Amino acid sequence: MNLLYFDHAATTPVKQEVLNEMLPYFSNNFGNASSIYSIGRRSKKALDTARTRTAKAIGCNEKEVYFTSCGSESDNLAIKGIAFANSEKGKHIITSKIEHPAVLNTCRTLEKSGFEVTYLNVDENGFVDLQELKDSIRDDTILITIMFANNEIGTIQPIKEIAEIAKNANVIFHTDCVQAVGNVKINVEEMGIDLLSMSAHKFYGPKGVGALYVRSGIEFDKIQDGGHQEKDKRAGTENVAGIVGLGKAIELADYNLENYNSKLLKLRNYFIREITTKYENVKINGDLKQRLPGNINVSFPGIDGEELLLKLDGYGICASAGSACSSGSSEPSHVLTAIGLDREHIGGSLRITFGEHNTIDDVRYLVETINKIIG
Ligand code: PLP
Repeated sequence: MNLLYFDHAATTPVKQEVLNEMLPYFSNNFGNASSIYSIGRRSKKALDTARTRTAKAIGCNEKEVYFTSCGSESDNLAIKGIAFANSEKGKHIITSKIEHPAVLNTCRTLEKSGFEVTYLNVDENGFVDLQELKDSIRDDTILITIMFANNEIGTIQPIKEIAEIAKNANVIFHTDCVQAVGNVKINVEEMGIDLLSMSAHKFYGPKGVGALYVRSGIEFDKIQDGGHQEKDKRAGTENVAGIVGLGKAIELADYNLENYNSKLLKLRNYFIREITTKYENVKINGDLKQRLPGNINVSFPGIDGEELLLKLDGYGICASAGSACSSGSSEPSHVLTAIGLDREHIGGSLRITFGEHNTIDDVRYLVETINKIIG
């Protein structure tokens, strides 16, 4: 049985070109990037190349890129780093109710040490209300952290407008861009983003490596003590092979962005057309326009989403019943709850996220299999 993978928001396979560039750094070029002899310098050079490629893809300077171990670490470093560096100025942070746990739980930890956090509501499509954001800003607000695109429903926030509001209020703006990098063209300068988190495994790079962009001039504290790597902001011997992989993957993603997007949109539109024609009462969750091109989140009311997933797995189909990070939890999805879905729609939800290797035939098989299972 062939495996049909429709869960690219959870993770993606490493591209062959990416792997090819990484491999020498596990063996022949194994030097520590801090060593001054030739194989050390070779590793340092590989980090520099990856930094340049990353900076080019998001429109910043390479000095503004810090490599980390994942998207979660980037979020932690951004939020705690800004909070600790600015706690004299104020202790208020604004975020939204639909952030990934990497942001929500970081905020909750900060609340335990005296920070105050406002969790903005979202509307039925998952958008934050810009007026509520403006009204929430206080004299002691030091950070606004709002995700670029949601991992469950794919809704893309009005990032430029949010950045503008933050700038006018003299508040630092961080965005969790883990789902957007590789799917949406990002330019931190044009969009007014101060800090941005990304993770390589979401755009056909390896797992266990991420990056944080921090606009130059913005002070942030390190959250991990040790050596002086990453301009003394992130201690720990660099994962050279992983970082090489991130650099190559973001370069390829940026280069192929338009083709990739139009391919995903075709698959998505086909799926939506087929499924809404067959099932009158299905609900597509999240905004239909301002949305990640490969994301579908659909509710089949009255159907058990977990059971549907398991049955799809029996046919070799991988999808998700919500966020991969919250599966295994018995709590209903905080994102679907925040957009106002009732338990029946939450329980019957299915997330499908298309990727590079999916074809229309694959999607046809997916639709036919869903029909077979739920009738
Ligand atoms: N932020 C978002 C929006 C995500 O979707 C994820 C992972 O799914 C993360 C952060 C965490 O990234 P990582 O798995 O690299 O820690």
